[in-house]
Amino acid sequence: MRYDYDVAVIGLGPAGMAVSIMASEMGLRVLGVERRALGGGCMNVGSIPSKALLRMAHVRHLVGRLAEYALADVEPPAPAKPFERIADHIRFIAEKKTTKMFEKVDLRLGEGSASFVDPHTVSVGGRTATAKRIFVCVGTRPAIPPIAGLESVEYLTNETIFGLEAIPESLLIIGGGAIGCEMAQAFRRLGSRVTIVHLDPHLLPYGDWDAGKLLEEVFGEEGIRVYNARGIRRVARENAVITLQTDHGELFRADHLLVAVGRRYDFDGLNLEAAGVRYGEGGIEVDNRLRTSSPHIYAPGDCNGTYRFSHAAMHQGMIALMNAVAPPPIRFDFRRYVVPWTVFTEPQVAHVGALERDLKANDVPYEVVEESYADYGAAIAEGIAVGSVRAYVGKAGRIYGVRIVGEGAGEMINEWGLAIQNRLRIHKIMVLQHSFPSMSFLTKRVSERWMMNRLESPVLRRLVRWLF
Ligand SMILES: Cc1cc2nc3c(=O)[nH]c(=O)nc-3n(C[C@H](O)[C@H](O)[C@H](O)COP(=O)(O)OP(=O)(O)OC[C@H]3O[C@@H](n4cnc5c(N)ncnc54)[C@H](O)[C@@H]3O)c2cc1C
Repeated sequence: MRYDYDVAVIGLGPAGMAVSIMASEMGLRVLGVERRALGGGCMNVGSIPSKALLRMAHVRHLVGRLAEYALADVEPPAPAKPFERIADHIRFIAEKKTTKMFEKVDLRLGEGSASFVDPHTVSVGGRTATAKRIFVCVGTRPAIPPIAGLESVEYLTNETIFGLEAIPESLLIIGGGAIGCEMAQAFRRLGSRVTIVHLDPHLLPYGDWDAGKLLEEVFGEEGIRVYNARGIRRVARENAVITLQTDHGELFRADHLLVAVGRRYDFDGLNLEAAGVRYGEGGIEVDNRLRTSSPHIYAPGDCNGTYRFSHAAMHQGMIALMNAVAPPPIRFDFRRYVVPWTVFTEPQVAHVGALERDLKANDVPYEVVEESYADYGAAIAEGIAVGSVRAYVGKAGRIYGVRIVGEGAGEMINEWGLAIQNRLRIHKIMVLQHSFPSMSFLTKRVSERWMMNRLESPVLRRLVRWLF
């Protein structure tokens, strides 16, 4: 059968962009369909605007600390139109950078949602096209919890918060995950009074729990109020004020409310049934090659529910395309690749590999090797001595997992990811020179600490004396 396209991609966020740009560079005929804007949630209402806002907040926070560095005694000015500035940057990226990458892709942008007509035919805006392979990269949307009264207030989500005109005086946040924490610190540092209310016993519940506790301490010092383990009885609007009542009897008031409790799938209108693509509460079902129940249809990215990170979505897009192109028996199993992640608060929280509680639950023997920023001269001198680098290491030096809380965590975690993915033992890190005084020097220190712990063995000590 002759198809209109070799490849059709539905949704052009990180996953769909990776597929369509790579496929078109390979010389394949590619159709890309996006109902909103190129770059998807990541570029328009996710990673990029949230980091831009955090950067502004960081700069304002630093101005407030000038006196601490004996530089000046000034009040940080109120931010002027921060959201307009971010929107300008995103527009620039879209017009000058992203669009260029799609020169070889047939784009159907803003013509509506795509839906399947049959397993090889996609319809959008009343026109249909056929493709040999189809990649469903439709991401997720914000989940809205069933809280009494929520429908009667104008709450914000990540899809609307970057469209605010000004920094609110006060902000209530439901949710203590990455989005809730990042937005809490950004808005607090830009001048809002911020309160986080959430169900879990600590912030960032999917990471190692002590990291969330450390972050909570820093938040407390910055004036962010955190209420853990709270159910929400109801929310309501009283004139211009939103009220939120918890199951502990507290009543909070603010002029804005952000709902950041997780993500939901939105396959409405895609007509996955017509394509024979199975999905459930965990998203679109995929095998280890990212193929759906219709083997010529792939579903990389957030929509398959495995990970919810931009880099994972891009990586899966690449792996899915490689699987579609590679002749048998070459296969790429996307689950073989480690997925580091970072929460871009200050201090940053990053993780790769196994969590400590998983090692415990699986009875894996491990040693905790940790170095604190507070014991590192460079971090002390620079006034950033908060947090630690902690590795979970097996007897023979196998690295199971690493969690970093502190300055530069998001950069440092990648080296550990490389080591874990390639099964490098920790002494390989020790013999690598790390530039000094970078924060990643702490990574080397962790490996040295591991070696020193080995040298505490009386047998080894006796051997060293004998050899000397
Ligand atoms: C506030 C926030 C901050 C974040 N920060 C980070 C971070 O710092 N680091 C990180 O790694 N991740 C971060 N994430 C997560 C990251 O944004 C997602 O993991 C990533 O965007 C997923 O990429 P995707 O391609 O799977 O889906 P998306 O980016 O969601 O893209 C899916 C696209 O499909 C389109 N679409 C959906 N249905 C159809 C249809 N039927 N027809 C046509 N088009 C359709 C949508 O319009 C959308 O553009 C953040 C998310 C949020 C909300």
